[in-house]
Amino acid sequence: MAQRGRTINSNPLGDDESLMTHIRFLPKDGRILLGENRMLLIHASGFGVLRRELIETIGSANARGLLTRMGYHNGANDGQLVHKLQIAGHDDVDFVRMGPQLHMLEGTGVVKEVHTDMDVESGHFRGEYLWEGSSEAESHIKTYGIGSDPVCWMQIGYASGFVSSYMGRPILFREVECIGQGADCCRIIGKPAEEWGEDEPDLQYFHARQVEDGLSFEVSKTKRQSLPHTSDVHSPLGIEGVVGASAGFNAACHKLRQVAKTQATVLFLGESGAGKEVFARSLHSISQRTSKPFVAVNCAAIPDNLVEAELFGVERGAFTGANSTRPGRFERAEGGTLFLDEIGILNMTAQGKLLRALQEREIERVGGGKVIKTDVRVAAATNLDLREEVRQGRFREDLFYRLNVFPITVPALRDRLEDIPVFMRYFLRKYCEMHGCFVEGFTSRAVTAMLSYKWPGNIRELENLIERGVIMASKDRVIDVHHMFTGGEFLELEELTVSPDGALIPAQKNLSSSLEGLGLACQQLAGGEAPSGAGFSLESLERQLIDGALKATDGNKSAAARMLGLSRSQLYYRLGQGER
Ligand SMILES: [Zn+2]
Repeated sequence: MAQRGRTINSNPLGDDESLMTHIRFLPKDGRILLGENRMLLIHASGFGVLRRELIETIGSANARGLLTRMGYHNGANDGQLVHKLQIAGHDDVDFVRMGPQLHMLEGTGVVKEVHTDMDVESGHFRGEYLWEGSSEAESHIKTYGIGSDPVCWMQIGYASGFVSSYMGRPILFREVECIGQGADCCRIIGKPAEEWGEDEPDLQYFHARQVEDGLSFEVSKTKRQSLPHTSDVHSPLGIEGVVGASAGFNAACHKLRQVAKTQATVLFLGESGAGKEVFARSLHSISQRTSKPFVAVNCAAIPDNLVEAELFGVERGAFTGANSTRPGRFERAEGGTLFLDEIGILNMTAQGKLLRALQEREIERVGGGKVIKTDVRVAAATNLDLREEVRQGRFREDLFYRLNVFPITVPALRDRLEDIPVFMRYFLRKYCEMHGCFVEGFTSRAVTAMLSYKWPGNIRELENLIERGVIMASKDRVIDVHHMFTGGEFLELEELTVSPDGALIPAQKNLSSSLEGLGLACQQLAGGEAPSGAGFSLESLERQLIDGALKATDGNKSAAARMLGLSRSQLYYRLGQGER
């Protein structure tokens, strides 16, 4: 496989006009859009107030973590935007250089590139950049003066989020010099998270953990050491498989940590495959019950007539086939945690017994009269709307209220897109180790596909696709779209761009496929006939021709204008820049 890495020295960034066309001010709608993302024009001084209050209320380390993760979210969103742009004539380095350009467009300061050396397919990344006039450092210095630590927290999160999202693996940036420390400009260095080493102190700011600082981080440190090959991914709870940096995921982790030290019953809500069992295991391992058993039961997997025996145990002779006395899952989980998945489909008799177990902390085996005391924490999960099940008379209301003490919603994968690169790397490693394959990474097409896919099966589906990809790509050493999406998944590559009036239209990538229809429509119209295909408009024709000309000239607007017989300003007007 060819190394496509390259190094550019001190190239000034921010002169690419193509990004400017993606920011739109729509004052009549009260909206600012960057691509399809809604933006806010906030006051830098207001951000300074927020930052100061955060530092003073939750402490410097917590505030730093929070802002780093917020920045990571923003950067990852912009990384996905760049993926969707697919501007012709740009290679990976050009795309990654749009991160600094967007960062400048968003007003965070001037970014200068020292060097970028990367290869998406092998996962190689080395980047060094300078920040001049950082707005974050400016607001920090106004309040606190020059200090001993770097202060561009949100910005470092942004850089990490942007490049991680583009590369499809966690790339961590560190600020090695900062204006906040008295330097002339800030200097940042980025490389794959695991190459910084296990003890990299800045890694902690990417994990949501601090505000509710319980056992979790100590647990996570010891666990991390036992996971040498997968520990480079963001695992805020320190538990294998619980990875992510997105806001929704971190909110769920935060709730989990709050409830873990109590004895409260926890109800996990969320779509199938979103990782509810992994969360339940985490709940157990960071609770005081961690040395006792964790027992998981999928209520949907047990035949209805056996579910009571399975949960509560059975006395010898209770029914035909009950040849010996057998403890149920409740008894086996004694002192620990019992996880009841798909609780919504439990039958009414079992629901009654479960309610008693939760209320009285006692159970009875099937066919036995003896009452057994239990000390078990119950965690349950469902992808059903339990309130609706109650209304329909399929679920006991009293049991619902017993279970719904502390609900935690585990977000669907499509609502935590910024975690996809983290998962990709995590599962890539896991399955390379498991199957003894050597696959270096993903093609950028594959990364785009992963970010555009709707993930109806959530993390479980992503895990399956990557396992399939690892096996299928073992000869090619790089996973491409066709290695993964072979099981009938509906892959709709969402590549959209913004038309002059602010509407989303298909990007130029679809140009060639729609040209045939367009040509026919032009012929028909010129001959005085109504066009036979749907969706023809003069505007879309014009847009296609302009896009085609830009593609033919590698984005050079003057050359494209000449090709179309327009002046440069006429072309700009048609591209929408003359309007606002
Ligand atoms: Zn700085």
